[in-house]
Amino acid sequence: MFIGHFAVAYAAKKATPKTSLGTLLLAAQLPDLLWPVFLLLGLEHAAIAPGSTAVTPLAFTDYPLSHSLLADLGWGLVFAGVYALLKKDTRAALWLCACVISHWVLDAISHRPDMPLYPGGHILVGLGLWNSKLGTVTVEMGMFVAGMAIYLSATRARDRKGVWSFWLLNMLLVIIYFGNLFGPPPPSMTAVAYTGLVGGWLVVIWGAWIDRHRVAAPTSP
Ligand SMILES: [Zn+2]
Repeated sequence: MFIGHFAVAYAAKKATPKTSLGTLLLAAQLPDLLWPVFLLLGLEHAAIAPGSTAVTPLAFTDYPLSHSLLADLGWGLVFAGVYALLKKDTRAALWLCACVISHWVLDAISHRPDMPLYPGGHILVGLGLWNSKLGTVTVEMGMFVAGMAIYLSATRARDRKGVWSFWLLNMLLVIIYFGNLFGPPPPSMTAVAYTGLVGGWLVVIWGAWIDRHRVAAPTSP
C-alpha cells in the first residue's frame, strides 16, 4: 500500500493531537523507510518484474527485517519506546506503535502472498488487493480522503501556510500515486531505493512543517 499509510497518520492525529504529524507519518511508513536501507545494504531483495501484480512492477523477493509481522511488532515497540523516553507520553507512544503495526496489516491486504510472519518463516501472507487497479484505487483513495477529513476535523490552520502546505502535500502525493500506478516501471532497484528513501523522508519533514502551522481544533463542549 502507498497512499493508505498516510491516511492512517492523518487519522491518528485525532487520537493523539499533541503528536506531530511528521512523527505520525514516520511511524505509519516506518517499514517502507527501513526497506530501502536494507535493500541498499543487500540484506533484503526485490526485483523489477512488470506484471508482478496489476499495481506494482516490483517483486518483493525477501524482506523479513522490514516487512515481517514479528519485525514490525518489534520496530513498533522500539519506535514507541524511544518516543515514550523522549516525550514522556505513553499514550501517544502506544498510538505510534499501532501506526507502525498498521503498516504491516495494510501491506498484507495489498500484496500478493509475499509477506512473512517472522524472519525465516515459510508462511507468506497477502490478500492481493494489488491484483486489481480499480480495487486498489477505490480502497486507497477512500482511506486517503477519510484520513484527510479526520485530520481537518482534528486541527485548524494557525496561518496561511497551515492551509496550503497541507493541500500541496496531498496534491503531490496523489500525483505521485497515479504516476506510479500508470507510469513506466522504474529503471532499477537502486533507483527505487533512493527515491523511496528521499520521498519518504521528505513527506515526514513536510508533515512536521505542516504541524507547526496548525493547532488542535477546539473540541465541542
Ligand atoms: Zn510497506
